[in-house]
Amino acid sequence: MTPTTELCPASDAPASVRAAEPQQPGSPKLYPLTLYSLSYDLISLLAEREEMADRKEDTADVDAAMAEYMQALPQKVDGVVHVLRTLDSQAELAAAEVQRLNARRRQIASAAERLRQYCCSVLAQLPKPRKGSRKLEGSTSSLILKGNGGLEPLEVYDEALVPDEYCTATITMSMNDWNALFDAAGSPVLVGSSVQRSVNNAAVRKALAKNCWLCEGKGGDCNACGGSGKQGVPGARLQERGSHLEIR
Ligand SMILES: [Zn+2]
Repeated sequence: MTPTTELCPASDAPASVRAAEPQQPGSPKLYPLTLYSLSYDLISLLAEREEMADRKEDTADVDAAMAEYMQALPQKVDGVVHVLRTLDSQAELAAAEVQRLNARRRQIASAAERLRQYCCSVLAQLPKPRKGSRKLEGSTSSLILKGNGGLEPLEVYDEALVPDEYCTATITMSMNDWNALFDAAGSPVLVGSSVQRSVNNAAVRKALAKNCWLCEGKGGDCNACGGSGKQGVPGARLQERGSHLEIR
């Protein structure tokens, strides 16, 4: 047997594979299988099975052919290894292609986003109309600068400044410690536990919506709120709602 030729008993190959193999004169019971033809048949069979499965077709016949084929694996090791390597390298090439296309998609999306930002900044410089949004009209389409709806974006610029009353504690401890704590509340089992302090955004929003305790929302030259009329929360503030481009 040469490295590129495998001999395999005729009964081992499924009908679809046998049909493709030339018969060697003088050796009626053995078929010469070049690595290429074996690979080609096996890859076609596998590809056919994947396509059928994708189309949700019954793959029983192909599965039977594959099972018959694989019974002869001991005689087909080199060929099957060659097919496995071929498929692996094709999968790698496909993955590289996916990456290339993803990069292309990101570039296109980023170019569109940049153009939108340019349009927004031009529209933002237009005088504010008495009614409706700033817009530029073409003959068949228009660009409109629309204010974003929903909540004002919350910015927590310094978590450490936010008072504990607007924070939550997430505690991780051993189950034994938890059981002990449960049995004897107040015992010092918390010493070995880890506590994660995090800002409770909902609580901060609620506090930021409250009126100033001194001017009660009037603002003006109030020293407590600096004229905003709101009580404020150290370390956090609400930002202005942004705007976005609408195309019509
Ligand atoms: Zn005030």
